[in-house]
Amino acid sequence: MRRVTLGDIEITHVSDGTYYLDGGAFFGVVPKVLWQRRLPPDDMNRISGGMNSLLLRAGKHTVLVETGMGNKLPDKMKQIYCPQEKLLESLAAAGVRPEQIDTVINTHLHFDHCGWNTVRRHGQAEPTFPNARYYVQKGEWEHGIRQLERDRVSYISDNYDPLVSSGQMQLLEGDQEIVPGISVKVYPGHTRHMQAVMIRGGRQTMCYISDLIPTTAHLDLTWVMAFDLFPLETIESRKKFYAEAIPGKWLVAFTHDPATPWAYLQMEGNRISAQRV
Ligand SMILES: [Zn+2]
Repeated sequence: MRRVTLGDIEITHVSDGTYYLDGGAFFGVVPKVLWQRRLPPDDMNRISGGMNSLLLRAGKHTVLVETGMGNKLPDKMKQIYCPQEKLLESLAAAGVRPEQIDTVINTHLHFDHCGWNTVRRHGQAEPTFPNARYYVQKGEWEHGIRQLERDRVSYISDNYDPLVSSGQMQLLEGDQEIVPGISVKVYPGHTRHMQAVMIRGGRQTMCYISDLIPTTAHLDLTWVMAFDLFPLETIESRKKFYAEAIPGKWLVAFTHDPATPWAYLQMEGNRISAQRV
């Protein structure tokens, strides 16, 4: 179990396990002859993606960033994605019970990022983390409930609507501090309102950049996923991100990297590479 400390904040890598993604969709317009050298696909052209979450212990707060795919997917989707449903085990291994989590941050509401927000009990979706306040951007939720043809498959109401109705999920409007040392910052592109999570302590910064840069194989500016709704904005957001993250020596957490939950970034010539820690 990987752990790092920034000042007073302890960060532990927890995971919902891996799932399958189509390699072509994962790398968009990038030719397969190029991406397959970085992440080799299986004979069905699938890549095994990670679902990395962060457990943060910050003062009196216990914070969970992202909740993976969960255990409520319909059977057909389970066959496609083969989720391992490991997040609660992973939290237990880190010494945390669901009731101890007081804050949950979702970067956006795609089903592979907020699945464990709720579990089904007696046919009802109920909060997995009963004592937590959940946070997401209001614009992200408004987009999800529109159920547009392009991406409605990614937005599953039971992952968030019961929490919004009960007031347990807070809808944010823009960048904001959530608890001392932990804030969110909107980076449009993957969706218009996807938020990264910034963790600051001991004069260091860590950023959970989520699907703006899903793995260390996606660091090139133009290696943008086909899922992204606004690919030109992804590139602009990445430029802004790199302009701060590289000189600022940010530790960067990668949501879907199966091997590298976090790394430092460095410029080598005009290529950005990950320096694993
Ligand atoms: Zn996503």
